[in-house]
This record gives sequence, C-alpha cells and structure tokens, in this order.
Amino acid sequence: MPYVALWSGERAGLESELVVEVGRGGLRLGYENERPEDRASSSDVLCARVEQSPGVGRPLYDSMHPARQYVAMYSMKCQVCGQPASRNKDGWLFLDWRKPYDPPTWPEGALTGMPPLCDIHARSSIAECPHLRHTEFVVLRVRTPRLWGFSGTPYMLTANGWTVKENDALLPIGDPGLRGVVASRLIRELRNVSVVGGGS
Ligand SMILES: [Zn+2]
Repeated sequence: MPYVALWSGERAGLESELVVEVGRGGLRLGYENERPEDRASSSDVLCARVEQSPGVGRPLYDSMHPARQYVAMYSMKCQVCGQPASRNKDGWLFLDWRKPYDPPTWPEGALTGMPPLCDIHARSSIAECPHLRHTEFVVLRVRTPRLWGFSGTPYMLTANGWTVKENDALLPIGDPGLRGVVASRLIRELRNVSVVGGGS
C-alpha cells in the first residue's frame, strides 16, 4: 500500500476546531488547542488535521494523507515506500501529467503535489496505477524540484460560520492568502527537467 495513501479509518479534523487567531503579522486561521505539528515547519502554514492510523479500514488510492504527503514531498521520499527517492546526475525521479494550471513550457515548470519515487516503485506505478493507464504521462528527472507552495482549502468567516469556495486552491509560499488556508498538500515546482520516459 502506498505510504502516502489515505485510509478510510483515518478521520479528518472538524471545521468546528477552526478559530481566527492573532499570529505573527496579524489575523490568521488556527485550531483550538493548536499543537506545534499543526503547522508546516518550513512556512508556518496551517495543515489539515487527519488521524494517523495507516492500515485501518481500506486504502483510498485517490486521496493522500496530508501529513504523510508533506513528509514525502518535503524530505524527497518515495511516495509508495517512504524510502529515499531515486536520484542520479540528472536529478530526482518524478512522474507527471498535464494539469489545467500547468505552464505552456510543461513539463518544465510543472507544479506537482505528487511526491517523487524510487526506481522500483516508478516501474510498479507505471505498470499498475489505474490513473496512468488512461492518462498521458511522462517520467522525469528533475534537477531542481523547488519548494513552491501549498494546495488547500481557503476558509472565510461569515455571519453564518465558515464558508469555502474551493478545495484545491494553489498558493505560493509567502502569499498572504495562506493565512486563511488549511493546507492539504505541499507543492513543488519542477525545474530543470529531462523527460526520460512516458506512456498511455
Ligand atoms: Zn519506493
């Protein structure tokens, strides 16, 4: 089972835990009873709360556990086994496919929330992942997978409580909008890429 996969037994935190607090530089979103691990260490961004109990229930392959995605993406671990991702003289090993927000230079400059892979699990993902069977994808070596920002849910406090307009907003590190976001994925920008394979 992929290291980053979310399991059905891992329950998400509740909206009722969200509060507006005074933080560094002004008002920001927080949690009641906030713990240090609720914020991304690199950037102070509030992270989605989800229980950590991999193996309980069934794996939800199309969802990633926010904390395990963060660890894999931040520390360049394989998203399947959690061991160090493959790296050679041309860079780190990533799979990617076109997304609506990618630049015309894709795959150069692509933004991705999918952590890298080791050699073994790049091969097994290509062979077994149902999503890749129906999607044109590329195998990349990436020299500069730059920490770019987060995807997550921007919250607004109204007279009727919290409102949400979108679930997968993309915001770069340093964007003031991140003060109102519950982040679910750490995003890297793939720079200095070489295409070394592909399919579908
Ligand atoms: Zn692996």
